[in-house]
Amino acid sequence: MSNHPIPFGRPLLDAEEIEAVTRVLSGPTLVHGPVSHAFEQRFAERIGTRHAVALSSCTAGLHLSLLVNDVGPGDAVAVPAMTHVATAHAVEFCGARPRFVDVEADSGNIDPEDLAAAVTPELKAIMVVHYLGLPCDMDRILALAEKAGAFVVEDCALAVDATYGGAKAGTLGLTGCFSFYPIKHMTTVEGGMVTTDDEDVATAIAQRKAFGYDRALGQRAKPGIYDVTALGYNYRMSEVQAAVGLAQLGKLDAFQRARAENHRILKSALAELDEITVFEPLKGKAVSSHYCLNAVLPRDRSVARDRVVASLKEAGVGTSVHYPRAVPLMTYYRDKYGYREGQFPVAEWLAEQTISLPVGPHLKEGDALRIAEAFKEAVRRARA
Ligand SMILES: *Cc1c(COP(=O)(O)O)cnc(C)c1O
Repeated sequence: MSNHPIPFGRPLLDAEEIEAVTRVLSGPTLVHGPVSHAFEQRFAERIGTRHAVALSSCTAGLHLSLLVNDVGPGDAVAVPAMTHVATAHAVEFCGARPRFVDVEADSGNIDPEDLAAAVTPELKAIMVVHYLGLPCDMDRILALAEKAGAFVVEDCALAVDATYGGAKAGTLGLTGCFSFYPIKHMTTVEGGMVTTDDEDVATAIAQRKAFGYDRALGQRAKPGIYDVTALGYNYRMSEVQAAVGLAQLGKLDAFQRARAENHRILKSALAELDEITVFEPLKGKAVSSHYCLNAVLPRDRSVARDRVVASLKEAGVGTSVHYPRAVPLMTYYRDKYGYREGQFPVAEWLAEQTISLPVGPHLKEGDALRIAEAFKEAVRRARA
């Protein structure tokens, strides 16, 4: 068997992206031009929303989704305790307070039971994160949101093409926020997209991502003349990034098939390890986008993660951790709000004992089985 290193993730770019970038760089328009608009349109079609707005990152999308819906000081926003810190930071950017909610032990998704307990009159929005690509229990969350008078923002950074009752993630909340960081499902180097059916929200996000100009470049009767009607940012995506994104969209079906297949092979090869929790890619109406295979070691800490990761590394298998600490226990949040260990037991267990194994389209024939064998051996050694 070949022993080439298998990284956790690797962007797959080839001559097509390089040619597309070269075409943009040889032309006159480097930002807010036709390539970005084409990318937005194609992405909206794929996800199934009326609008999509390209941005510099998913984090920018999360921020503006809250900002344009008037989240501000005095408001609370529910955030799962187990997520990328960007989800919580977006709330802080608005001067509102994140209200952390623990997650389910079988999916890592926000726990609807705990979410119900977090509803108060200050709760203005609910951020759901489709953890590692599996959509949250949206029927219950949307019902709760409606009762609470809160709107829902979906963090779809790892959930491109995930579905819930047949509808794609990104169509279920008021907005969906996607990431095109290099090792997500597809890349624009850095970049993000917000999807929404709400025209006012789409227009407001488009305005706030570009300084708060009252009219876009193409709408100006006199060149260079505009007013500024809101405090805006510079969160734009460049034409170069959009060109990469368009090329990647053309390959996405093949990428997703490879992820699903690698996940299936790896999961069935690990089925015999009964002390390891492997999150299911299907749950109720939810179907995962297979971002990675998530293996969680026992709660009793009988298997040490550091040792498993070290053995895998020795075997040439890259891993990741999603995420290394419950967000409320990250120093910034702990210092600011005084959170303590033990308040988010499931998120804390995941932070300590979860390992993400690669399933991306960069895997070669036989790699999924090699990862499975290396993982089994690593667990055996870490237990001994
Ligand atoms: C990667 C990620 C983000 C941040 O995305 P950027 O495009 O890097 O801003 C946010 N949320 C989740 C769940 C992520 O995995």
